[in-house]
Amino acid sequence: MVKKFIIAIDLGGTNLKCALLNSSLKIKAKSSFSTKSFDNKRKLIGGIVDSINSFILRQNLTKRSILGIGIGLPGLVDTFKGMVHFLPNIPGWKEVSLKKILEQETGLPVFIDNDVKLMTFAEHKAGSAKEYNNVLCITLGTGVGGGLIIGNSLYRGKDNAAGEIGHLPLNEHGPVCGCGSEACLEVYVGNARIIKDARKLFGSKITLEEVSKLAQGNNAKATKFWGEVGKKLGLALSGVVNLLNLDAIVIGGGVSCAGKVLFKSVKQTILMRAMNVQAKRVNIFKAKLGNDAGIIGAGYLVKERLKR
Ligand SMILES: [Zn+2]
Repeated sequence: MVKKFIIAIDLGGTNLKCALLNSSLKIKAKSSFSTKSFDNKRKLIGGIVDSINSFILRQNLTKRSILGIGIGLPGLVDTFKGMVHFLPNIPGWKEVSLKKILEQETGLPVFIDNDVKLMTFAEHKAGSAKEYNNVLCITLGTGVGGGLIIGNSLYRGKDNAAGEIGHLPLNEHGPVCGCGSEACLEVYVGNARIIKDARKLFGSKITLEEVSKLAQGNNAKATKFWGEVGKKLGLALSGVVNLLNLDAIVIGGGVSCAGKVLFKSVKQTILMRAMNVQAKRVNIFKAKLGNDAGIIGAGYLVKERLKR
């Protein structure tokens, strides 16, 4: 029997990551390009097509051995219509029929979805939330994204836009948010705010990795700093836990590397602020699949869609 493969792509604002997965979704080969080296939409689509073709060529494969292509994108995506509505951090992407374009260019089945939804998929199928049925996955970065698993399946909402925990209001008024509202969780725990606060405390050159390292070394100021971040996050999560009675929350993204201090503060806040039954039930985990979550999720997407 001919071995079958999936090509998985994770398009981020910074990197375009590609991987060849076998049918058990093990990564067989990987490559990465800077997204910014493709300065417009047409070139970026060309770059995606080239990376697909070069994988097939370099690995000595034929198109017949490729089951399909899965792609995660950082923005609003209609997975069923194969449309990219809007990518906030990559200019020029509005209402692009990406599935159709790529299927024409490659002659292979293509499936697209939002990157955080794919990460959620991956963590639920193969990562930290494997044993759990009601899960929130949250990614902390420039943006704060979320994905929900309810009753063992991905919850999409009416317009496929569910999971936007970053835009849960924490106050009536506060800093303006990229979504057009104000005082959203993202303006308090997104990287921009955290780095601004960190530089006030630790000097104008410090990076978030350095503040994380300080906390891991039990530096008192850094411990207190991440404790405060965890409190804000825990406050938002208390509301979610009360509403959904989750059994697990998976936290990923760069900031999750702050480690124990952050997780402890999130858990303590939930125990203090959420209702007893829900607070005790929920487990808080660090994302397990790290940078590969998007790629593995894209592999699951292809497998699921082909089953239908
Ligand atoms: Zn917002």
